[in-house]
Amino acid sequence: MHDKPQPKLRPATLTAQAAGAVDATTDGVVPAVHPATTFIRDEDYETGAQNNTYLRSNAPNGRMVENLLAKLEGAADAMVFPSGMAAVAAVFRTVPSGAAVLVQSQIYWGTTAWIRAFCERRDITLIEVEASDTAAFGAACDAHRPALAWIETPSNPWLRSVDITACAEAAHGVGATLVADMTAATPVLTQALSFGADVVMHSATKGINGHSDVLAGALAVADAESALWQAVRADRDMAGAVLGPFEAWLLLRGMRTLPLRVERMSTNALALAQFLEDHPKVEQVMYPGLPSHEGHVVALRQMTGGFGPLLSFVVRGGATAALGAVGRLQLFHRATSLGGVESLVEHRHTIEPHTGIPEGLLRLSVGIEDVRDLQDDLAQALGQ
Ligand SMILES: *Cc1c(COP(=O)(O)O)cnc(C)c1O
Repeated sequence: MHDKPQPKLRPATLTAQAAGAVDATTDGVVPAVHPATTFIRDEDYETGAQNNTYLRSNAPNGRMVENLLAKLEGAADAMVFPSGMAAVAAVFRTVPSGAAVLVQSQIYWGTTAWIRAFCERRDITLIEVEASDTAAFGAACDAHRPALAWIETPSNPWLRSVDITACAEAAHGVGATLVADMTAATPVLTQALSFGADVVMHSATKGINGHSDVLAGALAVADAESALWQAVRADRDMAGAVLGPFEAWLLLRGMRTLPLRVERMSTNALALAQFLEDHPKVEQVMYPGLPSHEGHVVALRQMTGGFGPLLSFVVRGGATAALGAVGRLQLFHRATSLGGVESLVEHRHTIEPHTGIPEGLLRLSVGIEDVRDLQDDLAQALGQ
C-alpha cells in the first residue's frame, strides 16, 4: 500500500499499477485486504506510522482507491463511500437549512427523488433547471443565489451535455459550489475539476468498478481545505458512511482496466449509435458522439477519447414496439445500471413513468463484447 514517488503518469499506467499500491508485507504486486477494525498503539500510547486508529476513520483499502482516483481526476483529495447515493447525501448534508440549491432537471432519477425529499425535510429551497441550457442555468444562479449547484453530464437517460466551464462561472459568480456527477463519463473521458467544477461525484458502482459486483460511490475535490470538504470528511468519519475493505479491494482491482474498458465501451457505443441512427424503426438516437446530437459540440470539448457507454434511442411505435424489441434481445441483459463489461438494456418509462421519458425510449449501457454480435442482436430485435 506504499505510494511510490512517481512522475505524472497517464491514466492507463496509473490504473494498471493501482497508483503504486502493492503489498509491503509480502512484496506481492497486489495489495492485501485489510479488514482490521482497530489498530494497535505502542508502549508510549502512540499510533503507528500511518496514524490508524479505527476503521471508520482510517480505511487502508479505501485510501488506495482514493489515492488512485485523486490522481485520475487531478484532484487534491478523494473520498469513497458505500454507494453513489451515500456520496450524494454526504454533499447535500453540508447545506444549511434555509439555503437554496440548484439541481439540473432530468438527471439520474434516484438523485432527483432523494434531493426533493431531503430539501423538503430540511427546509432547503430546491430549484430544478435544465443545465444544458447555459443561459437558464446562469439566470437561475442569479435569481436564487444557491449555496450549491448540481449538474450531471452526460445526463442519464437523456444524454444531455452540460457545459461545465459555463456552469462553474455562473455558480462561482454567486458564491455557489459546483458539483458534477460524472458517472457516465468516468474520469477517463472527462476530468471535471479541470473545467472548473469544485467537486466531482461518481457512482463507482458503474464504469469505475465496471464489473457489476461492487456498490460504491466517490467524491473528488479541487480544494481539500474547503469548508465543504472538511464537513463531508467529518460527516463520513462520524456518521459512518464508509466503504468496507473487501469492496474497496475489489473496486481497486476493477479500476486496473478502467481506461481499456471505457475505450472499448465508447467505440462500441458509437458504432451502435450510428447503426441505430440509420435504422428505419428508430425515431431518434441520443448519443453525444453523434454530430446530430444537440450536445455534440460541448461533448467534443469536454470529453477526450470517447463518449462513454450510455446511449438512448426511441423506437417508432411507442411502448409496445419498444417492449417488444426489448423482449427479443438475447445478448443485452434486461437490467438497470450502467458501465459494466456486459451490455444492458432498460425501458426507462416502466421505471419512472411520470418524468417525461418517451414511452419508446430504450437506454443501452454498451459493454465490451464484440460489437458485431451486439449489432446483430439489435438488428434481429428491431426486425430489420
Ligand atoms: C447509479 C447512479 C447514481 C447512484 O449511485 P449508486 O451507486 O447506485 O448509489 C448516481 N448518479 C448516477 C448518474 C448514476 O448512474
